[in-house]
Amino acid sequence: RSPVIAIDGPSGSGKSSTSRGVAARLGLRYLDTGAMYRAMTWWLLRQGVDVHDAAAVAARVDGPEILSGTDPLGPTIMVDGIDVGLAIRSDEVNAAVSPVSAVPEVRARLVELQREAIGDGGIVVEGRDIGSVVAPDADVKVYLTADAAARAERRAAEAGARDVEATRDSLLARDRIDSSRAASPLVMAEGAVHIDGTAYTLDEVIDLVVSLVEA
Ligand code: C5P
Repeated sequence: RSPVIAIDGPSGSGKSSTSRGVAARLGLRYLDTGAMYRAMTWWLLRQGVDVHDAAAVAARVDGPEILSGTDPLGPTIMVDGIDVGLAIRSDEVNAAVSPVSAVPEVRARLVELQREAIGDGGIVVEGRDIGSVVAPDADVKVYLTADAAARAERRAAEAGARDVEATRDSLLARDRIDSSRAASPLVMAEGAVHIDGTAYTLDEVIDLVVSLVEA
């Protein structure tokens, strides 16, 4: 079987850059599960669904068709044929994605799509519950963290945001909800290797993960 590499951790810990780098280096596919939760959230907002009404959200989870491209050099995300790659990074989606992700019916639908995408493996999958729920049999599991200041700076730079403080508050608010929710909270999976990337460059973290895969 081709390898499955699970990379979990809080917002802005460097999961995306690391996962894409590892996939590109090893010639594997790449799946950004956070983008799928964001895509679902984008669609619900557009439909006018109250994202804080769990029953209303649960009733609509089968509505959107969500398609993730798995090329690490150019990941794509489509909702009903619309490219939402940029739209899912808006402040509005940032603020709504954690409550949406806490709804069990949302998770059930997206986990099913994620397992379909994983298929026979050959993929790096990033998220919050990959090593614990989506792919507990993954060959390598990484729990990637970084301190809050480093994470906020990275996210603010990615988003072209000037306000690092506001970025930090939004990121910490999401982490609080993601870690305390009843359904698949963010936890370090059994068998995961914890990497604190704060003091390392991106290339160093990629090297470290690649060495785990090759071990
Ligand atoms: O990774 P990213 O920051 O884009 O994820 C956005 C949100 O999606 C997270 O804050 C979390 O609420 C949710 N998420 C999740 N499970 C995953 C991936 C993301 O609940 N596997």
